[in-house]
Amino acid sequence: MENKIILYIKGDGIGPYVMDAAMKVWNAAVNRIYRDKKRIIWKEIYAGKKALEKYGDILPLETLELFKKYKIGIKGPLETPVGSGYRSLNVALRQKLDLYACIRPVKYIKGIDAPVKNPEKVDIIIFRENTEDVYAGIEWKENSEESNKIINFLKSNFNISLKKTAIGIKPISEFKTKRLMKKAIEYAIKYNRKKITIVHKGNIMKYTEGAFRNWCYEVSKDYSLELEKHQIEINDIIADNMFQQLLLNPENFDILITPNLNGDYLSDAAAAQVGGIGIIPGSNIGDDIALFEPTHGTAPGIKNPEMANPTSLILSGAMMFEYINFTQVAELIRKSLKKTVLEGFGTPDIIKDDKKVLSANKFAEKIIEYF
Ligand code: NAD
Repeated sequence: MENKIILYIKGDGIGPYVMDAAMKVWNAAVNRIYRDKKRIIWKEIYAGKKALEKYGDILPLETLELFKKYKIGIKGPLETPVGSGYRSLNVALRQKLDLYACIRPVKYIKGIDAPVKNPEKVDIIIFRENTEDVYAGIEWKENSEESNKIINFLKSNFNISLKKTAIGIKPISEFKTKRLMKKAIEYAIKYNRKKITIVHKGNIMKYTEGAFRNWCYEVSKDYSLELEKHQIEINDIIADNMFQQLLLNPENFDILITPNLNGDYLSDAAAAQVGGIGIIPGSNIGDDIALFEPTHGTAPGIKNPEMANPTSLILSGAMMFEYINFTQVAELIRKSLKKTVLEGFGTPDIIKDDKKVLSANKFAEKIIEYF
């Protein structure tokens, strides 16, 4: 028997409910494909509220060390209070483990109630830079010692006058942009995708977003022979236009590569276009560590967490199985989930027919029935 150790974090809010449901599906799929030849050993690790209770720390050192040791994990959503308290745990995890590529495939699943006329035209992969941009966490309160120092520095060195204000800094570097573009090109070659569109706001932010665009093109020149061989086209688009084009002509897009903040907005908007963030999977990939997670948060607005949609997490698991070369397991999960939804079953956020609305747990059982 071959064993593979995978770390998991249940998460906050709806996290434990969707994790329990998803794990049922993953284990059943591995069992169905590999019987007693291969098995996943799940190792629970902690972050967020549960970690605070257990270790007195929301992101214990042990959690980071275990990621460095086992290299692969999957997590539920973690809560981040707005405007105060700790900075985002998700951002901290991505930065501390250098999980620089956030990869989110957005594709319509037939049967899901989507808000646009032709959601089936959407089939894109978003490559979002995950470690820099305004997300790097370099920001200071208005009238703090730090923001006032920066204001004085700008005045005395560059004759730039700023009144009392909060300050945030947007770092975008050649090294971090280029390694992301390499990943996007390698992905396009491996998965037979035909176009990479660089999404940026370089017309306004020339030396950050504009440079992001230029550095991506530079990488594409290094790969010119391979791009030609595989007939992969590279182009670019201004971010605001991207949002309207995705609604008007989604079939024109394939892989999108973006700096951190654009990518954050774009992935939620694209997800909504095909029926909501409850269904779109996600992954955060570094050079040798990978952390898979749903695109949604803890969904505090859902009154009964048992009715939360586990699809995003289940499909994040399918991405994970593909990553560890359990390809047939990934295929079985995707195929069966599609069939279940096509038969009209699902959680209330995606299914209208009351008779076929299921809890996360019952939805998972239904998916297994359709294997
Ligand atoms: P959210 O994703 O939790 O919810 C946004 C909307 O989508 C809500 O209407 C919610 O009910 C719905 N929704 C989300 N997931 C769903 C699911 N599985 N099934 C059905 N409906 C679903 O976003 P938010 O309300 O802005 O954030 C809540 C908390 O989650 C915040 O603390 C935020 O920081 C955190 N968050 C964490 C992550 C992460 O862990 N990666 C991502 C986003 C937000």
